[in-house]
Amino acid sequence: MSLNLRGNWNYPTTIWAGPGRIAELPDACARAGIKRPLIVTDEGLAGAPMIKNALAALRDSAVFSAVRGNPAASHVEAGLRAYRAGGHDGVVAFGGGSALDAGKVVAFMSGQTRPLWDFEDIGDWWTRAHPAGIAPVVAVPTTAGTGSEVGRAGVILNEETHQKKIIFHPQMMPRIVISDPELTVGLPRAVTAATGIDAFVHCFEAFCAPGFHPLADGVALEGMRLIQRYLPRACADGSDIEARAQMLAAASMGATAFQKGLGGVHAIAHPVGSWFNTHHGLTNAVILPYVITFNRNAIAEKTEIIARVLNLPAPGFDGFLDWVLQMRCELGIPHSLADIGVSADKAAIIGREAAIDPSAGGNPIPVNAAQLEHIFRAAVDGRLGAVDSGA
Ligand SMILES: [Zn+2]
Repeated sequence: MSLNLRGNWNYPTTIWAGPGRIAELPDACARAGIKRPLIVTDEGLAGAPMIKNALAALRDSAVFSAVRGNPAASHVEAGLRAYRAGGHDGVVAFGGGSALDAGKVVAFMSGQTRPLWDFEDIGDWWTRAHPAGIAPVVAVPTTAGTGSEVGRAGVILNEETHQKKIIFHPQMMPRIVISDPELTVGLPRAVTAATGIDAFVHCFEAFCAPGFHPLADGVALEGMRLIQRYLPRACADGSDIEARAQMLAAASMGATAFQKGLGGVHAIAHPVGSWFNTHHGLTNAVILPYVITFNRNAIAEKTEIIARVLNLPAPGFDGFLDWVLQMRCELGIPHSLADIGVSADKAAIIGREAAIDPSAGGNPIPVNAAQLEHIFRAAVDGRLGAVDSGA
């Protein structure tokens, strides 16, 4: 391998990147001040060698693996019980986005006295938290998608209302991230594709979100370029370490960039995931072109820049949309939400909930519930041509 894939980065947090760096997990815990870590991981990884190895390498550690996709408050509560019962003093959040989000929220809640929903990402609600009650986190991503390892929030499902809520605090940012591409080589092609497009959507929505944030814009553009180049390679050959390493970096870049904001894709995908329990990345991948089409009049200049950075065969908005559709097709992503088991019977509720999702505020043009319902219905039926472009 010609390229040295190893690096230590210090923004947005400390990231130890490179093949084999999982060996430094005990050192990462020591640096983060964790002596008795609780390893929070996905149900599906519970018996995996990488988790067994982590448990063996970390003295006084235990594993909590009752985390499923679209993690819910009950998963966090069970994790908190395990955390308190074991006398832990920090969390190793190890897995895909669900495990990372759940692990971060367990660490955050470990020393709080208010209920979870008091910390939803609304206004300055985060200031209600006791900062001293937030336990440190070491994050180890095993997918290249959500970028939750460098995020300051966790998305948790409220099972009573069927709504996904964003729990936010600046100190939820993991102290140290181990970004080891060898941990992602076993990811199936379909999961690689869906999570990789999620990372692309993070970069794209952040770049198109209104507001002055050139730092985020720069990170987002390079993230999109890396994904264009390396996601097809990671899908074609899961053991391509260079492609895996670049995709892990791009996923972290997406979440770094979306501090600026997200947009209509995530606003719709959140309630769809809540009601239909669909995979977050896959849901975004399906919805993306419908929202691009709706936003057409507001993103002409932005898509022209993206088309140039990606060196697309055709310029501007049309060239960009064509490329998105082609990439999505080549990666095996279905064209309609119906193809992934979503029906239109909840369309009005999904429109309303998408409109109040915090991501909606980052859409390049203001969107209301009726417009989001319109986009959702078109995506369910796979009728891209039926999407009206907003004002
Ligand atoms: Zn996402």
